[in-house]
Amino acid sequence: MDICGKREMDLLQQLGFTRTAGSPEELQAAEILKAQCEALGAPAILQPFEIEDAEVTECTLEILEPYCQSYPVTGYKCAQNTFGDGLEAEFLYVEDADQVSLSAAKGKIVLVNGFMRVPLFRKLMKAGVAGIVTMEGELRDDRGETDLATRKLRRTLRAFGNVPMAHTRVLDAFDMVKRGACKARLVLKNTLVERTSHNVIATVLGTEKPDEIVSFGAHYDSVDFSKGVYDNGAGSVINMEILRYFVENPPRRTVKFVWYGSEEIGLEGSWAYVKGHKEELAAHQLMVNVDVGGPVLGMDKVTVTGEEKLVHFAEYMSKICALPAAVRQGIYSSDSIPFADSGIPAINFSRDGAPGAAYIHNRFDTLSFLSAEALEKTTRLVLEISRALINGRVFPVERTVPQNMVEEVEKYLYKKELAEVAEEK
Ligand SMILES: [Zn+2]
Repeated sequence: MDICGKREMDLLQQLGFTRTAGSPEELQAAEILKAQCEALGAPAILQPFEIEDAEVTECTLEILEPYCQSYPVTGYKCAQNTFGDGLEAEFLYVEDADQVSLSAAKGKIVLVNGFMRVPLFRKLMKAGVAGIVTMEGELRDDRGETDLATRKLRRTLRAFGNVPMAHTRVLDAFDMVKRGACKARLVLKNTLVERTSHNVIATVLGTEKPDEIVSFGAHYDSVDFSKGVYDNGAGSVINMEILRYFVENPPRRTVKFVWYGSEEIGLEGSWAYVKGHKEELAAHQLMVNVDVGGPVLGMDKVTVTGEEKLVHFAEYMSKICALPAAVRQGIYSSDSIPFADSGIPAINFSRDGAPGAAYIHNRFDTLSFLSAEALEKTTRLVLEISRALINGRVFPVERTVPQNMVEEVEKYLYKKELAEVAEEK
């Protein structure tokens, strides 16, 4: 088997620059992937799709009582703008938004622990807060050596309401609470913009069953400040190596390779793909997704969003091929979700860093903790498992998503909560 970690590392180096959703750098990465497919002899296309974004022109947070101080914050894209001189209101730390804290939160600018998520946002909207401040980082952060990301209030969240929102560092939130901040002014100005992102698609037709498709997916976008090599330049180059294998060793069934754009802002590329390929989806038997890979210290994981039999098969293959992996049935927060939501089973591969041995979604996601050997190992696992299925006389995986997995996908997508709020309206 001609799999080469060194070659994967070379391509990963080429992709190792920040490439956020819809940016010129993301397009540049798409062009690199496309050119690479073509160099291998697999024609590729770029498929554009529109994404929603915003430009934040102003965001400030000032504590007015019992002391006066401004703190560095970033504004939430797509959150409601403030009017005039900004939103001046009482300031309250509501921890994890428990009932007691929220009983006093109406009309206030509230500070909450951690990032925003649907259940938390829903509670805050019900409590009638006027503004929200979230936080990230660690107390020991050095400002010069860490970054504060610009976050977005996603459409799913906006279904529950909208207020001005800012994001601050844990060390500043700590200072506000310790000094008893009780009144604040929040200013947010942002404008919606439409941007274009791209999926890169290459196909190798099956020699015997061209109408049956197994699709390989990996997102190639990154978040702000991150070189996005672990997440997910690694998956991108692993799939390129798998494509190379199938170009050289034509598969019995058709294999499709899609490098998804804009995964990091809500799986936008894979949603666009399933929406734009409704007819073709009927031919998809299985989606194979690779998201995060390459850490020297880590563990290969296989997450099967499909029947139990596929879990056992993947476990057996891992043992037979002496490629250790932790295999389980479950969902994985990545581009396999829109496929599972469309009734297509998926198998997700990841090599997760050992605790303390990998960095994700920040400036420390660099090549420094990755190796060619680790990339190659995951690639072999992906290839061994997928090739056996793709070249099977009969495709053995049942083309359904079992009920327990359907329920997990629905939970992940907050379908129940969204239906409830739609009904209230
Ligand atoms: Zn990822």
